[in-house]
Amino acid sequence: MAVAEGSELHVVNPATLAPVGSVATTDPASMPEVVAESHLAQRRWAESTLGERTALLGRVWELLLRRVDEVADTDALAWLVRNAPKLLAPERVPYPQLNLRHKRAWLHHEPLGVVGVIAPWNFPFAIPFSQVAYAVAAGNSVVLKPSELTPLSGALVERLFADAGAPAGLVRVAQGDGAVGEALVKADGLGKVVFTGSAEVGRLVAAAAGERLVPVTLELGGKDPMIVLDDADLRRTVSGALWASFLNCGQVCSGVERIYVEAALFEPFVEELARRAAALKLGDELGPLISEEQRDKVAALVDDAVARGARVLTGGGPPDQTGWFYEPTVLADVPADARIEREETFGPVVTVARVANEESAVRAANAGAYGLGASVWTRDSDRAARIAPRLRAGSVWHNDHAYSYATAQASWGGRGDSGFGRTHSKHGLYELAAVKFVDRDSGRVGVPWWFPYDDRSAGTFAGVVRVLYAQGVAGRLRSAWRERRALGAVARRYRR
Ligand code: NAD
Repeated sequence: MAVAEGSELHVVNPATLAPVGSVATTDPASMPEVVAESHLAQRRWAESTLGERTALLGRVWELLLRRVDEVADTDALAWLVRNAPKLLAPERVPYPQLNLRHKRAWLHHEPLGVVGVIAPWNFPFAIPFSQVAYAVAAGNSVVLKPSELTPLSGALVERLFADAGAPAGLVRVAQGDGAVGEALVKADGLGKVVFTGSAEVGRLVAAAAGERLVPVTLELGGKDPMIVLDDADLRRTVSGALWASFLNCGQVCSGVERIYVEAALFEPFVEELARRAAALKLGDELGPLISEEQRDKVAALVDDAVARGARVLTGGGPPDQTGWFYEPTVLADVPADARIEREETFGPVVTVARVANEESAVRAANAGAYGLGASVWTRDSDRAARIAPRLRAGSVWHNDHAYSYATAQASWGGRGDSGFGRTHSKHGLYELAAVKFVDRDSGRVGVPWWFPYDDRSAGTFAGVVRVLYAQGVAGRLRSAWRERRALGAVARRYRR
């Protein structure tokens, strides 16, 4: 957590409220200049070979391994070093069409230019770091705007790349609040914006980028559901629910906020979940919220639900201790009109509801605007496989939740208010590159569809299409015989 004072952000430890450090902020008015300088660095970087790019990432990887106690996000680098050269290399376009056999073509994956990465405060290092690494692998430079609540993690990303010998200005950090992010999106010449944050700000970013026709990837909020079927392994499922709901004090975009349990398992499930949630150790297992404001937001959602009749099974308020802690909270019987049914809580609170069957579980899970992740808990893989395609989500897990964020080869992203576009995986890498179709032709073969046309041309072309797309070898031979005049006319045009 950090507080702004003049042109500095002062960082405070949310568990002890002790000062941690400070950084200078960037003047929003200077963002056009920052982006222009980044362009200069990018032009040189675009000329680097894929080998040079992965060598830089390899050096960052080494530096990161030395700091693995502080930051442990090496998976993205390991994956990029192994896969980026293959995925970004020119890809041959096959031409099975007989009339194009003499041509050769490739898909090139070119850099987009300067990528603006705007980051949130939860997982303040891992999120922007992997996005920056993907952008750099694809030949882009990056201007990173970390959250104003966690500026030191953003500064560390910049330092790691600089220490690994990245060209000056390739990865640059602009510190400050939303005004700096807004100025970044509006700066001329940005090739792409990768925004991670709330749906509310995501809409503003998409609108500003849309005005300039700058492409955006939006990784927004979530309200992940967990479906517990009546044949689930109770102990494992409760352990999973506990972790997925209370990790990072619930400040996880794909944290479980809603649990739908089939009737037969409902009572034992809630009893066990409430018992084990109450036993979580504040400080060791359950950290504080990022700020007092965030804690107030969580408290307001719980208070609203309780005032409307929700049952508190455990927790329900802040404990009596220093820091912005909130008790791990389990709510049941939450009425449909409670705000917590729709709004992202982003705190250590989970609601549990009884559902009659699979059908109503799917309907409940798909209700609401968000669609980031969802999980299905059952011993029966067929039931899980049947449900997965029916869930409106970017990821669906079976007997687990959210773990794939840490695997670079798995795609990450959402649907609906959880955003669009993907990070991670080959899809995330390709979103940071411009696909260019590049063709090669000796120029020695005539092009039959060029002018001149006469009154027989349409018939000739139609005849050739009938031959080219006839079914099976026998079909083609038959239609070649029927259309022999057309073929002859076109063959003459090829020789021209
Ligand atoms: P936020 O939307 O308040 O802020 C995100 C970033 O946007 C910050 O750096 C902020 O300074 C900047 N910003 C604010 N106004 C801006 C503007 N007008 N133009 C450009 N930038 C602006 O989000 P937050 O509170 O930092 O983060 C929590 C949210 O992020 C939650 O909703 C969470 O679910 C979401 N999140 C999503 C993912 C994902 O992968 N989908 C991951 C982590 C967090």
